[in-house]
Amino acid sequence: MGLIDGFEAIVRENEPLAPYTRLRIGGVAEYFAEPTSVEELAALVQRFQQADRPVRLLGGGSNLLVREEGTPGLVVYLAAPAFCRLEVNGNSVLAGGGTRLSHFVSVAIGHGFTGVENLVGIPGTVGGALHGNAGNQHAGIGNWIEKATAITRKGDIVTREKSEMTFGYRESSLTELVIIDATFAFEIDDADQLTRRMQKLWIVKRAGQPATDERAAYVFKDQGGESAGRLIELAGLRGTRIGNVEIAAKDANFFVAGPSATSDDVLRLIDLVKTRVSDRLGIALEQTLVVW
Ligand SMILES: Cc1cc2nc3c(=O)[nH]c(=O)nc-3n(C[C@H](O)[C@H](O)[C@H](O)COP(=O)(O)OP(=O)(O)OC[C@H]3O[C@@H](n4cnc5c(N)ncnc54)[C@H](O)[C@@H]3O)c2cc1C
Repeated sequence: MGLIDGFEAIVRENEPLAPYTRLRIGGVAEYFAEPTSVEELAALVQRFQQADRPVRLLGGGSNLLVREEGTPGLVVYLAAPAFCRLEVNGNSVLAGGGTRLSHFVSVAIGHGFTGVENLVGIPGTVGGALHGNAGNQHAGIGNWIEKATAITRKGDIVTREKSEMTFGYRESSLTELVIIDATFAFEIDDADQLTRRMQKLWIVKRAGQPATDERAAYVFKDQGGESAGRLIELAGLRGTRIGNVEIAAKDANFFVAGPSATSDDVLRLIDLVKTRVSDRLGIALEQTLVVW
């Protein structure tokens, strides 16, 4: 039996990945799947696992650099309605892993769910946010989780309860291959006051990051109580450019890619920043950007 026999309707070969990422850089996925149900996805993962072929999960592509040579094996994209649900019930929200985080935030704010305003302006999906516990200095998305459903690397469907999960700064114990959905519980506040708080946070965030149409990446973790952007500035690197990729003037932890930027430009700039920050400040920067 061929690797994708029976899955032809949902799997494409040699799909360019650049349009799915915020940096809009990178080669093709050998196989690219948009499954329509959880069962179909689990069966596909099992097929690739049995053939010992790699499987990767693509969210909103906002924390991802794809190399020019592309990715072997399967890339899964959760765009079908089965993975993009958003259901509010009392003070709880069930969100699919493929649901846009911006949609999740605006619906939750509309219901007066307090705390979620800290996630405003963060691009990507709910699944991607849970994978890296996305947030700001006050809170991460893991703060409000109750339960999650996931698919393991073997293709088993599992449920994780709140007591089994831990979330830290830009990391989570939810490391399964696919976060299918998650349930969150919130305290309720006045929706108007919450909207005003969210608007203030959004104004500050928008002013400090590249515009939504810019090809950008947020590259390193903050370290020792100092923002990564500040550390890069202290190392004298603000505005530095390699090839067609530049360190942003607004916040040095953002790299901005020009029209003909390559993955090598980004990787070389990452190496330069790590080396210079280590040499000048004695600090080993840790990367948050995922590289495929
Ligand atoms: C302009 C800009 C501003 C940003 N601001 C912030 C910020 O304030 N705070 C912050 O924390 N981050 C920020 N980021 C980084 C990024 O937005 C977050 O890391 C985001 O949560 C990534 O989600 P994604 O869906 O785009 O994931 P992707 O980039 O697609 O993937 C990132 C990783 O998550 C995994 N993943 C994605 N979806 C799933 C899933 N359903 N199941 C399992 N694994 C999955 C992928 O396999 C990959 O390993 C910013 C990025 C940009 C470009």
